[in-house]
Amino acid sequence: TGRSTAGAVTRALAEVHAEVGVLSAGEIVSYIPRLALADPTLFGVAMASTEGHRYQAGDADVAFTLQSVSKPFVYALALADRGVDEVSRWLRTEPSGEAFNAISLDRATGRPANPMINAGAICATALVAGDDAAERYERIRAVLSAFAGRDLDIDPEVYASEAATGDRNRALAYLMKAADALPGEVDDSVDTYFRQCSIRATASDLAVMAATLGNGGVNPVTGVRVVAEPVAVAVLSVLATCGMYDASGDWLVRVGLPAKSGVSGGIIAVSPGRFGVAAFSPPLDTTGNSVRGVAALREVSSRFGLHLMHAT
Ligand code: GLN
Repeated sequence: TGRSTAGAVTRALAEVHAEVGVLSAGEIVSYIPRLALADPTLFGVAMASTEGHRYQAGDADVAFTLQSVSKPFVYALALADRGVDEVSRWLRTEPSGEAFNAISLDRATGRPANPMINAGAICATALVAGDDAAERYERIRAVLSAFAGRDLDIDPEVYASEAATGDRNRALAYLMKAADALPGEVDDSVDTYFRQCSIRATASDLAVMAATLGNGGVNPVTGVRVVAEPVAVAVLSVLATCGMYDASGDWLVRVGLPAKSGVSGGIIAVSPGRFGVAAFSPPLDTTGNSVRGVAALREVSSRFGLHLMHAT
């Protein structure tokens, strides 16, 4: 790809940013009080190719907490640490058709529907190897940093706010524990989950993290292998069916890419072998997905012909 292609991508992203920027619908999340203070006008879009080229428009260098966008990367670490067989003893990989914080636990076994809803994500966090919670968290922070290609840190205020108001997540962990379906202790698992959700990154970072999944687990900017190819493929498969909560089916029809959103307004999508795409804009629709983020990724998919079911 030469200079003119790069210019075309940059121009297309600027157009998408301008077009989608006029949307003003959506509500900023309020159940985590610190997140309610976000600036609703922030809007960034970024792409990273699997060749390591980076493109961006708008507020793509503003850091925000990953929230549920952390889930696919921690699931990847759990798979790398424990292997697919062990992980699938604890976690199903079926779309829940329910909201991110739903009690989607299997009636007979208590196992969560998938690792992209909160219950399943807490279970995946508990599967990460480490002698104690501090070591597990540090391994999570390190792997997220390797996906991004730079050192990421935690937003201490969002973490404190989330820990202070996280009773629903504690309840999910207790339900799993009661069914012998949580591979760790409730307090440690939930606390580590709150910390991973409070790690901050920019839309530009997220595009590289997504491109790493789309590049078979090798970060295309740093050249570092972060996870093995089968792990990246498994994560993308789960994202295709479960990444957008109860909007996952509609998303696959309209956008046609594995994707993951979070309540702070971040969203990633992966075009395998081609691009990682990310957007950030705090106002959310009723399913908890960023209004401008969804529109931007839909537009990027259509302009670049990225829908996975396209013949070409
Ligand atoms: N930390 C948030 C929670 O557990 C993440 C949810 C999300 O981003 N959908 O509620």
